[in-house]
Amino acid sequence: MTEVDESSSEERSRCKWCRRVLPSQKMGRPREFCSQACRQWHWVGKQRAAELQLSESELIITKDELDRLHDELYVLACAVNDAERDLAAAGAKPSVRELHSIVEWLLEAARPLRDRELQPPAR
Ligand SMILES: [Zn+2]
Repeated sequence: MTEVDESSSEERSRCKWCRRVLPSQKMGRPREFCSQACRQWHWVGKQRAAELQLSESELIITKDELDRLHDELYVLACAVNDAERDLAAAGAKPSVRELHSIVEWLLEAARPLRDRELQPPAR
């Protein structure tokens, strides 16, 4: 099993809103956001936080948004369990076809999380 070791590579900057790793940049002011949408959501979030007197580390998320996130995490967790079970069942030398179907199953569960964008609640 491999894990992403973020400490070994140079300190990579991340989007201040969605936390995606930003492309490395040699010139100019360092980017803070991966997209204009993230810049905007961050701004809206800060405005809402100020209105509600929240600290920098607090954020309000709608119950609906949190439910959807938890649902997607649950689907991914189930897919990981399935993949582990299928890999164990496939034995020492799983076929390309078996591996392909396991990866496809995992990807299907992971895609919604890859594409998820959390947004501060509307006023
Ligand atoms: Zn972003």
